[in-house]
Amino acid sequence: MKVAVVGSSHGGYEAVRGVLQQFPDAQIDWYEKGDFISFLSCGMELYLQGVVKDVNSVSYATIPEMEDKGVHVHINSEVTNIDPDGHKLTVVDVQNGQEQTTSYDKLILSVGAVPFQLPVPGKELQNIYAMRGRDWAIKLRAAEVKPDIKNVTVVGSGYIGIEAAESFAKAGKHVTIVDTNPTILGTYLDTEFTDILAEELKAKNVDLRLSQSVKEYIGNANDQVTSVISTTGETWDADLVIETAGIRPATKWLAGIVDLDDHGMIKTDEYQQTSQPDIFAVGDATEIEFAPTGKKQLIALASNARRQGRSAAANLNGHNRKTTAVSGSSALHVFDYKFASTGVKDVTADKLGVTVDSVFVTDTKVPPFVPAEYNAEVFFKLTYDPKTRVVMGAQIMSKLDTTANINAISLAIQQHLTVDDLAYADFFFQPGFDRPWNIMNVAAQKAEQKLD
Ligand code: FAD
Repeated sequence: MKVAVVGSSHGGYEAVRGVLQQFPDAQIDWYEKGDFISFLSCGMELYLQGVVKDVNSVSYATIPEMEDKGVHVHINSEVTNIDPDGHKLTVVDVQNGQEQTTSYDKLILSVGAVPFQLPVPGKELQNIYAMRGRDWAIKLRAAEVKPDIKNVTVVGSGYIGIEAAESFAKAGKHVTIVDTNPTILGTYLDTEFTDILAEELKAKNVDLRLSQSVKEYIGNANDQVTSVISTTGETWDADLVIETAGIRPATKWLAGIVDLDDHGMIKTDEYQQTSQPDIFAVGDATEIEFAPTGKKQLIALASNARRQGRSAAANLNGHNRKTTAVSGSSALHVFDYKFASTGVKDVTADKLGVTVDSVFVTDTKVPPFVPAEYNAEVFFKLTYDPKTRVVMGAQIMSKLDTTANINAISLAIQQHLTVDDLAYADFFFQPGFDRPWNIMNVAAQKAEQKLD
């Protein structure tokens, strides 16, 4: 069997691994239009903050390693067309423009997404950057150490924007975050958390300009951006702008080949099969079932792309493995605070069309007798359906790492557990690690009281 995989990021990498495991005799052709395979944007912040020194190490695979496993790796190779009936691909060498046609029996697309570029006057100015992929990582790292870049504007305060803001603030730049939402991290956290994080950012010399967007970028005679005009009419200096205002699927070329939805997302079934029987698709160019609602939506996470990649490989010769619904769990730090969240939040419930109630609790990570240098306050919010009592989501934050709790809640959501299941669930106790009642028990017991 000849399997072609397009795209070498999370989804593509996992699909290749899956095919190697499931079909050791298959011929695998792995196409990537860039000059590097398996760059992990998730590791970009560690590189920008100097924790990881070598940009090329932010990867799970090298070409020699994959070729040793028998994979035919084709870099600088953009797949530009597919003939699904003839099982043929058109591949263009991006360095010399030469085109060739090749065949496949099964095809897995993990073409991902590209950063959304704000369609505002001045968008073509220099020093307006994005934050995705290796090329931008290298440019951003270079900008961090340029002394003439003093003022940095980050557009968007999702997790990528926050990573950019923190990295440049730590590099000594004055950072301004602009976001149309009234709070930062608006799809990840409710205000009990974002109020604290907003103060944390301000204390670290990061200005927040919320409930507004960019109206225009202004440049100088050298076409370098110099300032930003916002939709509220305010203007501020900017030597560098980093746009992190969402993504768009890289699927224009697939129109008429596989079915796309109105947003250009590739339509797949739960086996990752597209409208073409021998073409599968995974990752940020597809939707995934969100466990709390049972509906499909875009949840652009590497963890999802990986799960889908494995499913696609398993299903090449028949319906063997469904992609399980996910809870949309993610974690991040904002300077000293570490947070994680999963499922539905108060702030996202309306948009998702669900009615939820929630309880918010604070506690210490370990018993209060443990000295402050080993202890910290923990903030936890549990969200549930007030009619069915089913757990719908949770958020946790502390200066110590308590994020693993969110994995337990993610499982509870996937298994449709109730607050009653969680209230007395067996979680370990050891004073060096936890309290006699884990904060998830405490919150679920509070929810029971509220509901009864
Ligand atoms: P992409 O990563 O978009 O990659 C697609 C690849 O396909 C690219 O290499 C592209 O060059 C190639 N390609 C596209 N079209 C073609 C074509 N026609 N021919 C050949 N090659 C093609 N997720 C997490 O779960 N945890 C995190 O901590 C996290 N941090 C992140 C931090 C940043 C800064 C960013 C930007 C994202 C982060 N994500 C994180 C999200 C995660 O990176 C994405 O969900 C994931 O990369 C999606 O993988 P993908 O395979 O769908 O596509």
